[in-house]
Amino acid sequence: MTLRIKKIYGLLGSPVKHSLSPEMHNAAFARLKIDAEYKLFELKSGELEGFLSALSQNYIFGLNVTVPYKESVLKYLQWHAPEVKFIGAANTIVVKDKNYLEGWNTDGTGFYRHLTEDLKYNLSDKRAVILGAGGAAKAVVDQLARHNVKSVTIYDVDKERSRKLSDKINNEFPKCKAITVDSIVGFNLKDQDLLINATPIGMKDTDACLIAKDMLHANLFVYDLIYNPAETKLLALAREAGARTANGLGMLLYQGVRSFELWTEKIAPVEIMREALEEGVRKICSPK
Ligand code: NAP
Repeated sequence: MTLRIKKIYGLLGSPVKHSLSPEMHNAAFARLKIDAEYKLFELKSGELEGFLSALSQNYIFGLNVTVPYKESVLKYLQWHAPEVKFIGAANTIVVKDKNYLEGWNTDGTGFYRHLTEDLKYNLSDKRAVILGAGGAAKAVVDQLARHNVKSVTIYDVDKERSRKLSDKINNEFPKCKAITVDSIVGFNLKDQDLLINATPIGMKDTDACLIAKDMLHANLFVYDLIYNPAETKLLALAREAGARTANGLGMLLYQGVRSFELWTEKIAPVEIMREALEEGVRKICSPK
């Protein structure tokens, strides 16, 4: 008699209880009749090594990784995808064997697939401005450069961080010109095509918007990685200025889709995952 074992997947981080990933992945497992469950693993500092060394004995076949472990998991990986090296962080682990963990970062490809597939935006030869130079910004900028944007202007309160990111782009993608700016106040966006917010500014009602209304224009595409609230102050101002806008829910969806496909080697049921995510967002988004 063969014993059927339910495969376990999950999100590793701290805190993790706000996550919508269980809804999204469990809906996908159910649709494809895969005997698996996606769980939340909230670890205290010091528990990471023990947890990762016991994955196979706990039937864990794959993980998403979030703060604060995206960087610290790297030393436990036997192989990682090229984007993990560029970003310096992994958000997905595939357990190939009990002694062989693969690391991926699906944030950037999630952003790219949302932008190009759902929103039909062509990055080629565009001029982009990105607010933030942290983990998500690195993942996004890597994709912008890979897909032939003409230039990327980077702004972060941490000037050293933005400078390091622009140096990296200029070294690895010489066709894309990366520059940094020390202040975004009054920056001329007139010749720019794409403005991306990859800072957490806009999540709280009390956050001031980094961009003034008169800087925005109808030829801009404004993409905010934040999805809660669904419309940040930046997106509201951009909409009023006639710009196309998008929030980061599609990026969240497609990073999950890619993780799911890496774990299961099956085509993910995208629309089922989208519905589960949208339902989850409706529950957590505070009414306006
Ligand atoms: P992170 O690593 O902390 O990076 C954020 C960066 O923004 C940091 O360098 C931070 O500098 C900088 N920053 C903060 N306030 C700023 C300001 N007023 N002006 C300029 N720069 C400022 O965070 P992350 O993981 O990249 O996430 C960034 C945002 O993207 C978050 O809102 C997150 O929820 C969202 N996100 C969305 C998705 C999605 O799937 N939609 C995926 C990943 C992330 P300091 O560290 O000095 O504050």
